[in-house]
Amino acid sequence: MSKRELEVYGAWAGNPKGRIEDETCCIKDIWGGYSAGSYQCSRKRGHGPDGLYCKQHDPERIAKEDKVKNEIRRKQYKQAEEKHHRTRIALELIEGIPTEELSSYRLVRK
Ligand SMILES: [Zn+2]
Repeated sequence: MSKRELEVYGAWAGNPKGRIEDETCCIKDIWGGYSAGSYQCSRKRGHGPDGLYCKQHDPERIAKEDKVKNEIRRKQYKQAEEKHHRTRIALELIEGIPTEELSSYRLVRK
């Protein structure tokens, strides 16, 4: 592992020095909660590049999960698009049915 400077968390005007990185914890900076500025993730590190991240913040795991989510979204979009297309075709097909014949058609599924 290459030597790097420790991260500083939560440095702001009211606390210019912030909190220095805890080298046993995940390097991810978390925003929000009760803290002004960011704070370091309190989970144990050991995942991701150089083992600097916890399991939850491992960028490789997140990228993999995003890829899976995108794939699911893409499939859902394709299904919706197909359904829309089928509806358009169906509407065009029934366009030519004379009004008086419509009552003779029954839906198989409701
Ligand atoms: Zn973390």
